[in-house]
Amino acid sequence: MSDVIHLLPDAVANQIAAGEVIQRPASILKELVENAIDANATIIRVVIADAGRTLVQVTDNGKGMSATDARMAFERHATSKIKEAQDLFSIRTMGFRGEALASIASVAQVEMRTRREEDELGTFIEIAGNRVFKQETVQCDKGTSILVKNLFFNIPARRRFLKSDNVEKRHLLQEFYRIALVYPDVEFLFYDQDEEIFNLPVSNTKLRIEHVFGSTKKKMSQQLLSIETETNLINIRGFIGKPEYAQKQSHQYFFVNGRFMRHPYFYKAVLAAYDQLIQPTESPSFFIFFEADPQTIDINIHPTKTEIKFENEQAIWSILSATVKEALGKFNIIPSIDFDREGAPDIPILTSDKEIIPPKTSFNPAYNPFGNTAYKRPAIDWNDLYKNFEGEKKDHETMGGQRDPALMFESKSEDAYENSGHFFQLKNRYIITSVKSGMLMIDQRNAHIRVLFDQFMREIQNKRGMSQQLLFPESLQLMPDDYLFFEQIKSELRYVGFEFLSEGEDKYLYQVTGIPAQLKSASSIVTLLNDIIERVKNATGDAVTAIHEQIALSLAESAAIHTGQVLEKEAMTQLVEQLFACPIHNHTPDGKKIMAIWTEEEIRSRFQ
Ligand code: ADP
Ligand code: MG
Repeated sequence: MSDVIHLLPDAVANQIAAGEVIQRPASILKELVENAIDANATIIRVVIADAGRTLVQVTDNGKGMSATDARMAFERHATSKIKEAQDLFSIRTMGFRGEALASIASVAQVEMRTRREEDELGTFIEIAGNRVFKQETVQCDKGTSILVKNLFFNIPARRRFLKSDNVEKRHLLQEFYRIALVYPDVEFLFYDQDEEIFNLPVSNTKLRIEHVFGSTKKKMSQQLLSIETETNLINIRGFIGKPEYAQKQSHQYFFVNGRFMRHPYFYKAVLAAYDQLIQPTESPSFFIFFEADPQTIDINIHPTKTEIKFENEQAIWSILSATVKEALGKFNIIPSIDFDREGAPDIPILTSDKEIIPPKTSFNPAYNPFGNTAYKRPAIDWNDLYKNFEGEKKDHETMGGQRDPALMFESKSEDAYENSGHFFQLKNRYIITSVKSGMLMIDQRNAHIRVLFDQFMREIQNKRGMSQQLLFPESLQLMPDDYLFFEQIKSELRYVGFEFLSEGEDKYLYQVTGIPAQLKSASSIVTLLNDIIERVKNATGDAVTAIHEQIALSLAESAAIHTGQVLEKEAMTQLVEQLFACPIHNHTPDGKKIMAIWTEEEIRSRFQ
């Protein structure tokens, strides 16, 4: 076989979105493991040390490289995977830009050993900061082993931007999962220094999920339903979580043609199918694999971005939604069905003693919270609150979920209003008052978070928040990959009252000159902004809404009164009134309880 690597013509190279390929240790892991996959490896071994800071090593038994190719591989835009612009539209390999190894070698110390099956001897190359220190012929196994040491050894500033070991490890694992889940036919080993973290034998997708995420206590595969649909537009297969296993933290993966992707729009299709089946604060796990004609998708947006554009998004949305609904529908009719028999009986089996009641919601279409210019205190039936608690299991509020604002104000019978108007603060933390059914207790901080969250959401949506100027601007230094997210949310932050000046010279450096009026001090403003960026990054769901919600929640948490704060009577009255004016008032946006009721019976039973 002759040498296979060649330089891409400039025109093609420029057509490819350039970017900062190597952000952190996890980027190295991703690029090296993808290369191993592209080299048809069947066993891939990953070793890291110090959360990847000092070492990321990937060894494969793939096809290896010739001596010339081994040297060429480190040139920018050197690739064996595409030759001309046209090839960009039919990519079947993980890599194609030919810039990963060059980028890695420019910011770290790299040693590579590689040998092709047909060669007797292999090649050893030592390269750092793009300078080749050594190239020699060596004896080595078939395949390639690349050792990347001391990331950012030559750029201390970038090294300082790396996050804590835990965060970096999480990123490493995340990249590892995203590849390991797609290739169950490849054996993966993962070591943190000497400690074996994963040993994933060759298996099928379901077992691979089990091996990665399951534990002896938690059998993953029993929690999953399989899905499969073939159409001429797209093939969809994979697994979705049974509703009862939905959790706060779930495993959610979309892949297209073997590549991990984020897709907020498709995510909504999946979530919508679970509507009414899971708790408001939970979300289902899913592992969904799309196969599409490469001509109909665009993966060339940005090397570190995982968003992928489809030509027929709406049609695929419908297909996906129907696929998930069908699987859940089959499962729900026979709730006790065993996973291994899943899908077997197609006929609804109904027991005579159970009546199926369709879920109902009622609302008052005349209610308009902004209708009256003069604010009228809503006639609250405090007793109805209790009903709401009983119905909590059926309460499907999600963050930003649609619940009718009028729901709580439905029964307006004045005589049911029996709140004493007396508020009592317990332990500087809870507000207690008596209601018709018993005793109502409100967590003051959670209540305030809900009130402020709704307020911030309105400000973002109406694009007019109040700002207070800072006498002494605060510097905000961003990490390069945070910068992208920050740019995305900057205008939203302005809507709530933030003001920024950029420094010009350093595009990652900003001065914060104004903050939302509700925030009492600027002391932790940088932490707050970093928190917002982190949340936005990890947000799932519809992109724009998710961003708004994460911003509003961070701000609300930061501005809300604290546990331990003494409240005057007026403050308590005002807070409770504001709380009940919120459409959703028994949970914070992230699902924490705001209030609890002790019924008269419960109280009486304590005295028997
Ligand atoms: P890309 O993967 O986009 O082509 P890279 O910089 O990641 O660019 O790799 C450059 C080239 O080096 C690849 O096209 C491939 O020919 C070769 N290469 C890299 N890693 C391996 C490997 N593990 N086994 C065989 N060849 C490899
Ligand atoms: Mg590559």
